[in-house]
Amino acid sequence: MIVFFGPAGAGKSTQGQILADAYNWSWISPGQLLRESLDVELMEVMKKGKLVSPEKVNELMGNALVCNQNSTNVILDGFPRQLVQAHWLIENGPKYNRFVDLVIMLEISKPELFKRLHARGRIDDTPEIIDERIKLYEQEISLIVDYFIKNGIKIVHINGAGTVDEVHDRIIKELAVCNLV
Ligand code: AMP
Repeated sequence: MIVFFGPAGAGKSTQGQILADAYNWSWISPGQLLRESLDVELMEVMKKGKLVSPEKVNELMGNALVCNQNSTNVILDGFPRQLVQAHWLIENGPKYNRFVDLVIMLEISKPELFKRLHARGRIDDTPEIIDERIKLYEQEISLIVDYFIKNGIKIVHINGAGTVDEVHDRIIKELAVCNLV
């Protein structure tokens, strides 16, 4: 499994989907699954930029991993976002026969992030909510990174600035170094 990290707007979904298409891998995004669920209560949480409960998200992810069990590889986009989700992912590796091979951290400056999110114009992309999501991301991600490193998982930092193709090329180069493509 390849996990994409990066704040909302860093290009995780764009890059994750392009990568998945290129190699016929599955792309799993809890944000996308939650939006598709059309659950009014969950949508309220998302609209505020808050995180949905780990029980709900882990359940969604477990189902998605089962549905995609025949895929040669899986890209996770937006999961784990909390330490408790990271624990779940590692502890349930044997159950789903999926293990994290690599974490790709997409790095992007805050002004560029605001510019991109403004252009995207999603309902949860107001400046206050973007700020809330960045704050949450920064709090949790360092804990998750520490935990992954302790578990021997490799983390690479990739510059997320530039065109979609440029970023994609950087990602492919790293995957090649790690023998994942
Ligand atoms: P995204 O599409 O990744 O930007 O996610 C949109 C929203 O879905 C987030 O702001 C959260 O409200 C919710 N969400 C997505 N992934 C998670 C997760 N791993 N844990 C909790 N909530 C999530």
